[in-house]
Amino acid sequence: MRWIALALTMAFPPTSAVSQSPPQAPIVIANVSVLPMDRERVLAGQTVVVERGVISQMGPPRSVTIPAGAQTIDGTGKYLIPGLVDLHVHLASNPEDEQRAILTLFVANGVTTILNLRGTPQILELRTAIATGRVSGPTVYTAGPYVNEPFVTTPDEVERAVIDQKRARYDFVKLHGNLSRGAYARLNAVARREGIRVIGHAPRNLGVAAMFEERQYAVVHAEEFLYDKTNSSRDRDLPQVEARIPELARSMARTKTWLMPNLTAFKIIGWQVQDLDAVLARPEMRFMPRAVREGWGPATNPYTARLGKEKYSGILARYQLLEKLVRRFQGAGVRLLIGTDAMNTGVVPGFSAHDELEELVAAGLTTFEALRAATANAAEFLAAIDQRGVVAVGQTADLVLLDANPLENIANTRRIAGVLLRGQWLSRSDIARMLDELKSAGTQDRFGHAALFRGSPRVAPTSACGAAKCAGCRGHA
Ligand SMILES: [Zn+2]
Ligand SMILES: [Zn+2]
Repeated sequence: MRWIALALTMAFPPTSAVSQSPPQAPIVIANVSVLPMDRERVLAGQTVVVERGVISQMGPPRSVTIPAGAQTIDGTGKYLIPGLVDLHVHLASNPEDEQRAILTLFVANGVTTILNLRGTPQILELRTAIATGRVSGPTVYTAGPYVNEPFVTTPDEVERAVIDQKRARYDFVKLHGNLSRGAYARLNAVARREGIRVIGHAPRNLGVAAMFEERQYAVVHAEEFLYDKTNSSRDRDLPQVEARIPELARSMARTKTWLMPNLTAFKIIGWQVQDLDAVLARPEMRFMPRAVREGWGPATNPYTARLGKEKYSGILARYQLLEKLVRRFQGAGVRLLIGTDAMNTGVVPGFSAHDELEELVAAGLTTFEALRAATANAAEFLAAIDQRGVVAVGQTADLVLLDANPLENIANTRRIAGVLLRGQWLSRSDIARMLDELKSAGTQDRFGHAALFRGSPRVAPTSACGAAKCAGCRGHA
């Protein structure tokens, strides 16, 4: 199978020679209903032409010229949406020989763009390898290594780190811990000067007020609002957090701070604490590398180690509070995004984006609002709306063909008839084969034969991460 074959042969070439992707035949999707996602509408009876990885024409059949040699896909009864974007994933903590499976899971689920939230030089290499066609996978954006204590402390150290990350061509700066007030102000000021955005946790020692004052660009979990220093994470303080939601919503909207609510990761933490066996029995777990599944198992699961079953009711109460917060934020005009913490313990890449869409709708978003968080909003957040996030002429051909309309039922995003990845067509059967291969590989010990970075060392977890799967990322309860 083409896609897998490319991945299998992609151990990095020893030279800097960059081979471009093989030329692709034009693709025509005929008679399809398009959800452009610029606003809530469905364009029926469209013919969409893709050439050299870009949407070159779109409209009723009579307005479109079919290029010679085009492969035509019948879109009758089907719905075309932009590729989905997961803006909170973790690639760097995974053994590198498992990256292939992880990239495949995103693409098989129609997730064509991801933002990695802890960067390493290897992830910069991976980003280039995908962009130049040496590796098949979603388009990768990546934050740099964490800019917070204990890695950097003084304002000058923070300034140096931001400049270094901008020079190294990371896409974002990630805050994942504490900084002094002065260092945090410098972080945001220097980042603005250098043209790189600060995203991450709220600075938990300073509270969300400092975040609004310094105009941090994005918050990567809704749960940050539970940990604000003006309250605590004790059960009896939850009503106090709830009372603050309108004020928080106004501040978020006024400062135009983006939020990835990341409900699904929080929910799965609770679910693991309540019934780890049920989480490990989810059908998508079959596709995970065996070593990862084992790491999430009872012997080494970081959440069941820390939290007994008696904690479940408190986690559930917090989850319900986060749902209220998300609903009120959407109502107040806060800009929401899909981020799932994919590869955090229990969160399966790709599948988790569909979980998050469903959680956002369950929390009170419309199907259009949820889908927009995963597409056009994401592209605006990435400052890439001219290239991705909507279905229009000139856009990168990252598209998902669905069997049914997701505006009618958000679960229809799971009914994937095919994926276009930068113009490369992956049919339903291609995707089934990709997943089958992962399933059989998952029964082996390792993907040793398929290493993406053959011979390179495993990425060691940082002290801030605390665990190989970045379990230390989440500080709740
Ligand atoms: Zn994370
Ligand atoms: Zn985090």
